[in-house]
Amino acid sequence: MVDAEVSLRGWLFAVVRVLLALTAGAALGLFVGNLWAGLAATLAMYLTFHLYNLFRLDYWLNHRSVADPPDAGGLWGDVVARVVRLHRRKRFHKQRMIEIFRELRRSTASMPDGVATLNRDHEIIWFNRTASRLLGLKRKLDFGLRIDNLIRHPEFVRYLHAGQYGSPVVIRPNVSEPTWLSIQLVPYGEAQKLMLVRDVTRQQQLEQMRKEFVANASHELRSPLTVIAGYLETLASDSSLDRDLRQPVDEMRRQAERMTTIIQDLLVLSKLEDDESEIEGAPIDVIALITLLRKEVLARGQRTGEVLLNIESDATLIGDETQIHSAFANLVENAVKYTPESGAITLRWWVDDDGAHFSVADVGKGIPAQHIPRLTERFYRVDEGRSRATGGSGLGLAIVKHALQRHGGRLEIQSVEGRGSTFACRFPSHRIAPATARHEPQRVRA
Ligand code: ADP
Repeated sequence: MVDAEVSLRGWLFAVVRVLLALTAGAALGLFVGNLWAGLAATLAMYLTFHLYNLFRLDYWLNHRSVADPPDAGGLWGDVVARVVRLHRRKRFHKQRMIEIFRELRRSTASMPDGVATLNRDHEIIWFNRTASRLLGLKRKLDFGLRIDNLIRHPEFVRYLHAGQYGSPVVIRPNVSEPTWLSIQLVPYGEAQKLMLVRDVTRQQQLEQMRKEFVANASHELRSPLTVIAGYLETLASDSSLDRDLRQPVDEMRRQAERMTTIIQDLLVLSKLEDDESEIEGAPIDVIALITLLRKEVLARGQRTGEVLLNIESDATLIGDETQIHSAFANLVENAVKYTPESGAITLRWWVDDDGAHFSVADVGKGIPAQHIPRLTERFYRVDEGRSRATGGSGLGLAIVKHALQRHGGRLEIQSVEGRGSTFACRFPSHRIAPATARHEPQRVRA
C-alpha cells in the first residue's frame, strides 16, 4: 500500500517535471523564434537523462556483487530501491535454502537408516553414509548409476519395477554374509523415489529363532502326545472302565486330539515358513482335487445342505500338490464348520485375465467386518468357543495364507454377517499350466 502511494507520487512528480520542462523548452523556443526546436531540444535532453539512468541501472545489475546501486532520484530512485529490496530478499531466501539444505544433509548423513534418492530412471542422485555402508555404494563413483545395476537381488528388482511400494522388501543382498536389509521406496515429486534402507539382521535372526523354536517344540511334543493319545484311546474303548471315569477320559481324549491337531498344524506352518521363496512345483489337477474334497464332505453324511461344484475351467495349476490340497481342504473344512448343516456350500474354479481362482462360498453366519483383516493371524478366532467346540486349531487360515504366498497367490475374504462368507484363492497367470502340460480333467458337476 505504502509502496503503491510512493510510486504514484513519483509518477506525478515525473509527469509534472516533464510538463515543466516542455513549457520551459517551448518558452525558450519562442524566445529564439523556433518553438519546435525548443521542444525537440527539451525532449532530447529528457531522453538522454533516462538513457543515462538506464545505463547506470544496467551496469549495476551486471556488476551487483562489486558495485553499489546507482544513486538516482525521482522515479529512477524508486525503481532502484525496489530492485535492491528484491535482490536482498532473494539473497536472504537463497541463503536460508542453502542452510536448510545443509542442515538436512547433515541430519540425514548421521541417520541410523540409509537414505538414497533416485530419479525417474532409477538412477542414484544422492545417498547418505549409512546407505553407502549398507549397500556398498561409493560416493561420486555411483552417482548417476541405475540402482538395479548395483543391487541385482531378483526380489529387489521385481519390487522396484512392480511399483507397489506400500510395504518394504526384505532381502539378503550377499549370500556369503548374514546381513538382511529392509528396503522401502517412497515416491515423491515427479516420479523420483526416496529409498529407505534398514539393517534388519537382528529381527530376522530373532524371527528365525522363533520359527526354529516352534518347529522344535512341536516336533518334541508330538511323540509323547501320540503315546498319551494312544493310551487314552485304549482306555476310552475299554468296556470295563469305571463309570465315573468314562466322562473325564472321553474329555481327555478329545483334548489330546485337539492338541495333536494344533501340533500337526504348527508343524505344517513351520514347514511353509521355513522357505518363503516361491515354489515351482508341477501341474495339479485341481478339478480332481476339489471333486475329492466334495466327496470327503459328503461321505461324512452329516450335511443335508448341498455341496455344489462350479467348475468353469479345465486349467491345471502349477504348484505343490500337498500345500494346495492343505489350503483348499482348510477352506472347505471351515465352510463345513461354520455353516448350518442345511446350508449350501459352493466350490468354484475358474480362470480369467487376472489368473486362476478357487473359491469356497457358504451361507453360514458370516464374519463381522472388523475381524476380517486379522483372520489369517495365528490363533485368531472370531468365536473362540465355537472354534474350540469344532476342534479348530486357529491355524487353518494362517496355513492357507502361507501356502498361497508360496505360489505367488493371495487369499481374499468377503463376508456379510448373517449371510455367509466367500474365501477366494487368487493365483497369478504364470501358475496356470500350459495346454501341453495339462492333465485330462475329470469333469464333475453337481
Ligand atoms: P479355526 O481352526 O478356528 O477354524 P482358522 O484359522 O481356520 O481357525 O479360522 C480362523 C477363524 O476364522 C475361525 O475361528 C472362525 O472364527 C473364522 N472363520 C473361518 N472360516 C469361516 C467361515 N467360513 N465362516 C465364518 N467364520 C469363519
